[in-house]
Amino acid sequence: MAKYIDLRSDTVTLPTPEMREAMYRAEVGDDVYGEDPTVRRLEEMAAEITGKEAAMFVTSGTQGNQVCIMTHTRPGDEIILEEKSHIFTYEVGGIGYLAGVQARLIPGKRGVMDPTDIEAAIREDDLHFPRTSLICVENTHNRAGGTVIPMDTLEKTYEVAKKHGIPVHMDGARIFNAATYLGVPVRDIARYADSVMFCLSKGLCAPVGSIVAGSRDFINRARKFRKMLGGGLRQAGFLAAAGIVALEKMTERLKEDHENARLLAEGLNSIPGISIDMKTVQTNIVICDISGLGISGNELAGRLLEKGIKINGGSGSLVRFVTHYGIDKNDVLRTVEAVKEIAAELN
Ligand SMILES: *Cc1c(COP(=O)(O)O)cnc(C)c1O
Repeated sequence: MAKYIDLRSDTVTLPTPEMREAMYRAEVGDDVYGEDPTVRRLEEMAAEITGKEAAMFVTSGTQGNQVCIMTHTRPGDEIILEEKSHIFTYEVGGIGYLAGVQARLIPGKRGVMDPTDIEAAIREDDLHFPRTSLICVENTHNRAGGTVIPMDTLEKTYEVAKKHGIPVHMDGARIFNAATYLGVPVRDIARYADSVMFCLSKGLCAPVGSIVAGSRDFINRARKFRKMLGGGLRQAGFLAAAGIVALEKMTERLKEDHENARLLAEGLNSIPGISIDMKTVQTNIVICDISGLGISGNELAGRLLEKGIKINGGSGSLVRFVTHYGIDKNDVLRTVEAVKEIAAELN
């Protein structure tokens, strides 16, 4: 059977042969006792790459974000989030359930919050108000289409935060895509955040795991919350071994995913009935508005599936395509052709 062209997410990437080999050979120990040398090595590498004092391996990006929020805040606090952020939209209401904080939402432009809006949302010291204890930024921004926060905006956001004595957490699930787009090392981006989370399991192809990085004191406190959430893993070095390969071998090639996403976006945007805000096509995510086709996202996804192509639809008119290690230029061209055929059938 021919393989599917799977454009649903970069989370569908499978571990590379080199990762499987590294997992097989990994030297391991009980990481809850701090005795897994491979986890330690991964955490040291991640701290170095992000320019932070310390880092911690977590089971998923969601666990990483939630642990960071729990570490930065106290129940009853308020945290500032972009309106369509992953933390607000896709983390099962965890901030309320786990950290006991409430969200103050700010609409971003292509996922980027204006630092002036952030400053205006910070609570004054008043008996009635909750305490604003954290500002979260998302880089790249998933629902906005993989958009990158410009460096000067990031810097201004951090200045505002420091002026008010509030920490910044960066949901950098795809921070390596942001770094690739900007042509800067990850640490240059991470310096404008007190804590950063990134995923090993998306475009970097590791099977499981994410990283949280920050000051030594922050990571020490975060370890307790990770344990509380069931993230104290034993011989986790088998997973960390793949993460090390991800950091050593898989970051440089992300530019190919970005080129493929651009090619895909240009092809799709030329089809009548489909429109894409090309300014959002910066990294490996393409969000298309298909309202001109007169079918829903789910219907398009269903028709594409018949042609061997998987995408994430939805009941509305927005559909998402994500490029990754398992997608080459040929797959992109075949996908554009398939959508063209469907559009022609509908006309
Ligand atoms: C995928 C993602 C996460 C969560 O990662 P999981 O490993 O799927 O829990 C968090 N933030 C953003 C922006 C993401 O895209």
